[in-house]
Amino acid sequence: MNKHNMTYCTQCEKDVRFVITPAHEHHGHANLPDGNQVVCLDFGRGCDGGLCPLSGLPPMVMGVRLARSGEDKAEPWNLVHAVCEECSFPTEFKVLDDQTGLCSVCGSVNRLALLKLDDGSYVAATRKEP
Ligand SMILES: [Zn+2]
Repeated sequence: MNKHNMTYCTQCEKDVRFVITPAHEHHGHANLPDGNQVVCLDFGRGCDGGLCPLSGLPPMVMGVRLARSGEDKAEPWNLVHAVCEECSFPTEFKVLDDQTGLCSVCGSVNRLALLKLDDGSYVAATRKEP
């Protein structure tokens, strides 16, 4: 379990919780991904537009990090069911934004056609890149 930290996010204009992913135990591989990365647990609606102040990267990158980290998001993920283009399983997707979801089976990012319903939930279908 990673320790939770707090910081003020200038994009969301509120205090957010984040964790640092564990460093890899074996050093010597210079460019391993995933270790020592900031993962914001308050990723969500307020992150649209601009760069994420915590990562200096587009908000979507943080969404993918959070989804793959398995950390508890501050607010539950919106989940939709669709067939993954990568692994071909009909499965659950974590909704990253109105056009993007992350497959819970293989962890790949899919372009989704999302329709938001009145109750705030979504229905979705994957769509091929043009
Ligand atoms: Zn998949």
